[in-house]
Amino acid sequence: MSQSREGWVIKVPLLEVHNLVKYFPLRKGLLGRIVGYVKAVDGVSFSISENETFSLVGESGSGKTTIARCVLGLLKPTSGRIVFMGKDIFKLSKEEIRWYRRNVQAVFQNPFLSLNPRMKVEDIVAEPLKVHYKDMSKEEIRRRVYDLLEKVGLTADLAKRSPYDLSGGQAQRVAIARAVILKPKLIVLDEPTSALDVSVQAQILNLLVDLKNELKLSYLMISHDLSVVRYISDWVAVMYLGKIVELAPAEELFEKPLHPYTQALLSSVPEPDPRAMRAKKRIVLRGEPPSAVNPPAGCRLHPRCPYASEECKKEEPKLVEYERGHWVACHLYTHK
Ligand code: SF4
Repeated sequence: MSQSREGWVIKVPLLEVHNLVKYFPLRKGLLGRIVGYVKAVDGVSFSISENETFSLVGESGSGKTTIARCVLGLLKPTSGRIVFMGKDIFKLSKEEIRWYRRNVQAVFQNPFLSLNPRMKVEDIVAEPLKVHYKDMSKEEIRRRVYDLLEKVGLTADLAKRSPYDLSGGQAQRVAIARAVILKPKLIVLDEPTSALDVSVQAQILNLLVDLKNELKLSYLMISHDLSVVRYISDWVAVMYLGKIVELAPAEELFEKPLHPYTQALLSSVPEPDPRAMRAKKRIVLRGEPPSAVNPPAGCRLHPRCPYASEECKKEEPKLVEYERGHWVACHLYTHK
């Protein structure tokens, strides 16, 4: 289901994440004995429909990057399922894995780490076509590459350069061109603007929005930057210590955050207007997030939450639909 200006519409999910769990073993001693687990992701479910941007936000260590790596097939979950267009991505045949790789691409935070410095820009963008469409003629590849470079705002003279001769914003445009050249259905955006100058960030976000609309893409966005998330997202899920604590349409989440953790995150975002900043109610959490090796019992936020009760220390709140499409995991909302 998804929300549009016309109201609620049923949409077919493109990607479904069912009860995803990913624990990393903690080893000790010469024999590498397992002494515990880092519970990076602990029972996360969500879905993304076609032409939708779904963002996962949270501090570092909340589990959002681990989810992205599982979706990209780079990590195998401890349990749970990831289903893309009806197929479990960890049960794909060899041929289906190629199909999945064509349809699910990624853009990472630092383009200079993800682009080969020994290759020219045109070869970097052409490479996925050469790998997946071995019969495609050189002329056709060249035509597609140069059309796309123009679409992402790069002039033809940059095509012969190394990515290291480019600015950060230009290099990220190359990474985006490489991600879209196969016309994928889903792109995982892992902090795609956080390594860029503020002046360039808006240009890259506008490019991502334009490409989404033109190519009917869906995005799974990973970010800690709430202003970026607000600008680009249809849906936002807020994560804390491996769990989703709130999930809602983006506008609703920013206008009416329910969970104390979401409220604290939003209250720390600076406002351009100093009067609005002074009027803003500040929610301050105590201390730092605890370790994901031994998360607190009950609600994981309880040692830091200003509203914690005895119930919060003992019982873990379930993620419930408090209002239509607005889900929250907090005891303040379970006893309406
Ligand atoms: Fe705070 Fe309790 Fe809600 Fe957790 S369940 S966020 S501790 S009020």
